[in-house]
Order: sequence, then structure tokens, then C-alpha cells
Amino acid sequence: MTPDPAIIDAPRLSLACLPTPLQPLERVSQRYGRGRRVWVKRDDLSGSVLGGNKIRKLEYTLAHARDKGCDTLITCGAVQSNHCRATALAGAQLGMQVHLILRGEEQAVPDGNLLLDELAGAAISIYSTKEYQQKLPALFAHWDAHYQAQGRRCWHIPTGASDGIGLWGYINACAELKQDFKQQGIERAHIVCATGSGGTQAGLTLGAALYDLPVKVWGVAVCDDADYFQRKVRSDIAQWSERYCDGSLPLPIAPHTLDSYIGPGYGKAGTAVFALIREMAALEGIVLDPVYTAKAFYGMVQELAQGRFDDADDVVFIHTGGVFGLFPQRDSLRI
Ligand SMILES: *Cc1c(COP(=O)(O)O)cnc(C)c1O
Repeated sequence: MTPDPAIIDAPRLSLACLPTPLQPLERVSQRYGRGRRVWVKRDDLSGSVLGGNKIRKLEYTLAHARDKGCDTLITCGAVQSNHCRATALAGAQLGMQVHLILRGEEQAVPDGNLLLDELAGAAISIYSTKEYQQKLPALFAHWDAHYQAQGRRCWHIPTGASDGIGLWGYINACAELKQDFKQQGIERAHIVCATGSGGTQAGLTLGAALYDLPVKVWGVAVCDDADYFQRKVRSDIAQWSERYCDGSLPLPIAPHTLDSYIGPGYGKAGTAVFALIREMAALEGIVLDPVYTAKAFYGMVQELAQGRFDDADDVVFIHTGGVFGLFPQRDSLRI
């Protein structure tokens, strides 16, 4: 039998402004829809500085950390990580210490997400990409020991809070989407989101199955290839199943990933993506970011043109936030 997510006991804090609105993009539909209605689920409105997809996951992750008696959060990501910024601010809101293990270069003047990390009082250690990639588990262990010696108890949050616990964020978003679909008369849709650490895609994929949504969920990769996301999504879902229903999830889960829109690499976008950021801000008042949402939106527009979504009348783009990542790339907008 399909487990009913509404009756599984998963501790949760109320941190995000939910439900987020589902809005029609009328001019985008006209320009690119080829007869389909294009919608945006405004998860960028889940908070002002906490906004985006990560706070949905952190509601569950941080409830769990608290239940375990932890007073310190250690997590990791790129220097401009939205996940790290949301963790830093949510930690401050809960009176918890936050330590960020960041990958990239020190910035003379902190900008975007890093500026907010500092404001939130997070402790920050920045490592070169090489050192970070080779030593991440050791870096977690190092900082854990550091705080333990001060009598603190640490909870480790994986990249993007994407694991069996964080998955709840987007399982729960599917309950919202079910309501949205009813209200708007959406009968069959394609859902498109950016995928990076895989938790949003995994949560939507599993949530759509659990809530019996008439959709196909597409993750547009911003790094790594489709094979990687097949494995990651399945492994997050398996973790969730182990934790919350004794590993007995009966559903066949088939993740769908589009991996041809990564462009020059993680955090780097081409001129067409920057042009689309300008276009969408002026056309619909929707601000996309060059690391995640603009690449995914670009992918959606290309796939619409190629007929990928022709078998449904509606396409729903999940706006996962990320606006602060736009500011450090302001120079590339001069196109
Ligand atoms: C992290 C992030 C994503 C990707 O979500 P994952 O769950 O890590 O795959 C998409 N958009 C934005 C703005 C993000 O910060």
C-alpha cells in the first residue's frame, strides 16, 4: 500500500511562509507555450532572506537537529550557497551556532549570500575547491571536534540539506500543488525545477507519487549528469523510505533529468542565460539567478520549443529562489 505522508510523524518547525502562490505566466505562455499554459510556483517567496527551496527542507532538518539536542549546525556548500545562507539565518532565528564550510575563493568584499552569512553571525571557513573536494568529511570531523571541545553538540547537514529528512520539504510542497491544481483546473502537467544536490527533484518525484499528482517531474541539472541524479534521487528516496516506512516503499520511482543545460559549469552561465534573466524580469517581473533558476528556465523554454511537454496543457516551473546569487555576477549582466 502507498504510505500516506499526511499521517507519518516527521518533526517540523515553522520557518517558511507557506503555502507559496502558483501564478500564471501569461506573456511567457504566449511567447513560448505553443498552446500550453506556463505557471510559476513562487517558492522564491517562502521568505525574504530565508526564501527559496532550502527553507522548506530546513524546517524538517532543523526540527530533527533540535530533537537530537544539538545546539550547533555544521553544513557546507559553494561560497555563494543559498543553502548555507538559509541555514545561517534560520540558525540565528533559533539561537543555534552555525559553522559553514565553504568552497571557493575568499572575497575581499563579501557579496550576495556570503554577505548575509556574515551578517547572520555564522562562523565561516573557506577552502579551495581542491581541498574541499578531497577532504570534506575530514573538515566536518575537524569542526565537530572543535565545538565538542567547547561542550557543544553538532548536527551535520549534507549539501543542500538533501537527504532522507530534507526530502520532506518537497513532499509537502506536493500537497500544496495538489490544492493549486484543483483551484486552477490543472489536470495534467509537467513540473520543471533546477537540480543541484537533488533533494528538490527527489522530494517532488516522491511527493508526486505519494499524492498521486498527474505530473512528470523534470530536474534541469546545473552540475553533474543525468546518471548522477538517477543515483542521487533514488538514494535520497531510499533513505526516506528506510527512515519513515521501514524501507517498504512500494512505488516505482523514475527520476527524469535534463542534463544539457549546465553550460560552462556550476555557477557559470552563458550569455543566453543572462539574456533570459533580463527578459524575464522585464516581461513578467520574475527575477531568476544565473546559478540555478535561469538555467532551468532556459532549459524549460528550449524543451517547450522541441515539443517535450506537448502531452499536457500545463507546465509548472518551480521558482526555487536564489536571487542573492545574481548580485555577485552583476558584471555579466552587461550584455
Ligand atoms: C539549491 C538550489 C537549487 C537546487 O536544489 P537541490 O535540492 O539542491 O537540487 C535550485 N535553485 C536554487 C535557487 C537553489 O538554491
